[in-house]
Amino acid sequence: MIPEEIIEIPASLQRSQFLAAASVAGFQLAGAAPAAPMDDYPIYNQWVTGGLAGPMAYLADHRAPLRADPRSLLSSARSVLCLGLLYNTPGPAAPISRYAWGAGDYHDLLRHRLTSLVQSLEQVWGAFEYKICVDTAPLLERSLARLAGLGWIGRNTCLINQSSGSWFFLGEILTSVELEPDRPPPDRCGSCTRCVDACPTQALVPAPDGRWRLDARLCISTWTIEQHGALPAAHRSASGQHVFGCDICQEVCPWNSRAPFTAEPAFQPANPGYDLAELATLTPESFRQRFRHTPVWRAKYAGLMRNVATAMGNSGDPRHIEPLRRLATYPDAAISEHALWALGRLERIA
Ligand code: SF4
Ligand code: SF4
Repeated sequence: MIPEEIIEIPASLQRSQFLAAASVAGFQLAGAAPAAPMDDYPIYNQWVTGGLAGPMAYLADHRAPLRADPRSLLSSARSVLCLGLLYNTPGPAAPISRYAWGAGDYHDLLRHRLTSLVQSLEQVWGAFEYKICVDTAPLLERSLARLAGLGWIGRNTCLINQSSGSWFFLGEILTSVELEPDRPPPDRCGSCTRCVDACPTQALVPAPDGRWRLDARLCISTWTIEQHGALPAAHRSASGQHVFGCDICQEVCPWNSRAPFTAEPAFQPANPGYDLAELATLTPESFRQRFRHTPVWRAKYAGLMRNVATAMGNSGDPRHIEPLRRLATYPDAAISEHALWALGRLERIA
């Protein structure tokens, strides 16, 4: 929408209006970054051209260069409003990543909140051009969030807020309104290397510029969510008990030890636990009913059951032999192959 009238608002008032509206919309973190060429783009480009994105081809496709400048997505953009939505909840020790514990799709909630934030701001600023982005947009959102003062990018490659940790979904509003940019906070990782040391697959690797980056080809989250078909045997045993994602490098981070919890109903754990034997009984239909509107849907039925078979094989628990025998008869080649591999492991110790 083309603004009919630009309302002149003092920068400090504009900033406080933004922060107040962001809080009312339910965001715990908010800040503004300039819509300008991204200093981190060459690092990102090296990462994808070096093959470190692994099977996530969507990060390396024709949209990759758009990440060089947020104005690729909205040419009139002057600022990027960066928002953080806390998803941390107390919950089951789960083989499923924390961000996927809730019953709904966080993209929908995030988009809804960003939309209501735009509506609130239009009431005080007048109409402006904007584009709402959630994590599917080609944007270097962690770098922007750092520039907007939301946190620093830790050695675990996550955005970390000093008082609230890293369990955040990030969203952005590209806007034609120019806000005074926030300042990036200092990097507070110091000499800590807990995440690097705890990663079971050594997927956090040093970058040429001295920072750290994720080699997604080695990451359990990539294997269990993004990679389709049968996994190499070395990846199976290294996946441990994880059936969807991996949070180890965030769980060990000291900045998460006192991370607040959210009361947001959509993020509360939808299941009391994730028992492997129970997950192994899922049918395509019961999988659809339970996970259709959750992040787990991304792994698809075949991916989740493949991962359940792998986790059973890594459990050392002979009670999983019977369910694995059933999974070994599945028509999906990856599920049956992983189940046979898992059976081989458990029968050796039974
Ligand atoms: S998610 Fe897990 S496998 Fe991936 S880098 Fe973190 S600790 Fe390593
Ligand atoms: S575990 Fe330590 S090194 Fe890793 S992100 Fe947290 S503070 Fe930084």
